[in-house]
Amino acid sequence: MIYLKSESEIDKMRIAARLVSQTLAVVAKEIEPGVQTGKLDRIAEEFIVKNNAKPAFKGYGPKNNPFPATLCISVNEEVVHGIPGTRELIEGDIVSIDCGVEKDGYYGDHAYTFMVGECDEKDKALLQVTLDSLYKGIEQAVHGKKTGDIGNAIQQFCEDKGYGVVRDLVGHGIGKDMHEDPSVPNYGKAGRGERLRTGLTLAIEPMITRGTWKVKTLADKWTIVTADGSKSAHFEHDVVVREGKAEILSTFDYIAEITKNEILETQYG
Ligand code: MG
Ligand code: MG
Repeated sequence: MIYLKSESEIDKMRIAARLVSQTLAVVAKEIEPGVQTGKLDRIAEEFIVKNNAKPAFKGYGPKNNPFPATLCISVNEEVVHGIPGTRELIEGDIVSIDCGVEKDGYYGDHAYTFMVGECDEKDKALLQVTLDSLYKGIEQAVHGKKTGDIGNAIQQFCEDKGYGVVRDLVGHGIGKDMHEDPSVPNYGKAGRGERLRTGLTLAIEPMITRGTWKVKTLADKWTIVTADGSKSAHFEHDVVVREGKAEILSTFDYIAEITKNEILETQYG
């Protein structure tokens, strides 16, 4: 069931999304060689709870193997759903951090891929292409278009440059549930899929690799890695479909202030 939101619901979703944005920035401050991913997770959880919200990922999933942490932290060839722990980040890693919160009955869910110290030029290029592809997708999230227009824009943009577009995991509706209809694949045919209407709230989240689009799941039954070991990036925003131009509820501005990252520029005005 596709569920369109009222403006007052969108106001609440904006607050939830912004809390995720701030959480990612708080975490960004701590990202450096030697830091354990579990420390980043604890910092995020404390910040979310202090702001009267709940970590949305913790306890999510099957009862016999719920996700155990507040953040998904996925390093290098890990695409998404990496579990934080004792792993220490090292110079040159790229680290995708996905965060979800529930605040006042509504969910925010978005992600950013960070560089740890100085990174390979090819990894920087991967991050920039993935971020740019997110905005290519968001440009299509307007009233009257279809989910296939979003996926097609992301896929074309990335594949033309020789990158892999992960297919097994997709974006989604978001609102009173973290995952609502419709699915928003990062690939597909223009003009196909669900029609987008004003008030539809979506999490758009390209997962892009330097190699294959194929992925596999590790023995922990959560961590998704590229099948060929190539590095992978993931950026996600929460958006509202509107006439003419989508509204982005989340923001990377808080992160930009922390990382002073001159490489990653947004192209969405
Ligand atoms: Mg997410
Ligand atoms: Mg998501």
